Amino acid sequence: MNDTSEYEIRLANTVAILEKIASEFTPAVFASSLAAEDMVLTDLILRRQFNIGIFSLETGRLHKETLAMLDKIRATYAVDIQLFKPNLDAVEDYVRQHGVNAFYDSVDMRKECCRIRKVEPLNRALKGKKAWITGQRRAQSATRTELAVQEDDVAHAMQKFNPLADWTEDDVWHYIRSNNVPYNALHDKGYPSIGCEPCTRAIQPGEDVRAGRWWWENPESKECGLHVVDGKLVRIKAI
Ligand code: SF4
Repeated sequence: MNDTSEYEIRLANTVAILEKIASEFTPAVFASSLAAEDMVLTDLILRRQFNIGIFSLETGRLHKETLAMLDKIRATYAVDIQLFKPNLDAVEDYVRQHGVNAFYDSVDMRKECCRIRKVEPLNRALKGKKAWITGQRRAQSATRTELAVQEDDVAHAMQKFNPLADWTEDDVWHYIRSNNVPYNALHDKGYPSIGCEPCTRAIQPGEDVRAGRWWWENPESKECGLHVVDGKLVRIKAI
C-alpha cells in the first residue's frame, strides 16, 4: 500500500522533471527497457506530449513478451519506439569465435556480449543528445540507494535523469493500474527485472528483485555497462 498523498507528490515531481528536461535539455531521449518502470515514463511522455524521444535496445536476445510490448505500445499510443540494434558484423564475429551462448562461460565473455549488444548501440542512440533518461529507482538494488534524480554522465558528456529515483514498487504498479498502462507479461510470471532472455530468470518470493539477472555470476560482477557514474560503471549488487 502506498501513501496516496506521498505518491501524488512523487508523481508531480516526476512530471516537473520531465517538463524541465523537455524545455531545457533538447534533444533528450528516454532509454526504455520496456519493463514496468519504463512504461510509466513512456505513458507520461506520450500522453503529455513531452518533446522527448523514446528508444529501446533490441539486443536480438529479448523475450517474445518484451518484443510484444512494441505492438502494445503502438496499439495504445499510436507510436513506434525507435529501436537500436547491435552491429551485425560484431555479433557474427562474436558468435563465430566464441559460440552463441558464450556469455555463460566467463564474466569477460558476458561483458563482451553486453558491450556488443547493448553498450555500443546505446552510445549510438545517445549521440548528439543533451540528456538521457532512465527508469532506475533507488529501491531496486543496494548500489542504487544513492541514485540521484539528475547526474553528470561524464562518460557520455551529457546529463542523465532518473525521474523515478524515489518511487516505490507500489507507486509503479499503482500508476500502471490506475492509468491502464500496458505492461510486459513477464511481470506476472515472476520477473520483476527483465533483460535478455538467456540472462534473466524468474525469482522466488523473498529474493532480491535483480536476483534473476545473470544469476550464475557473483553479485560483484553484475553490470551491463549501460549505467556509468563519474566515468565508472555502476556495480549492480544484490541487497
Ligand atoms: S544480457 Fe546476456 S544476451 Fe544480453 S547482451 Fe548481455 S550477455 Fe548478451
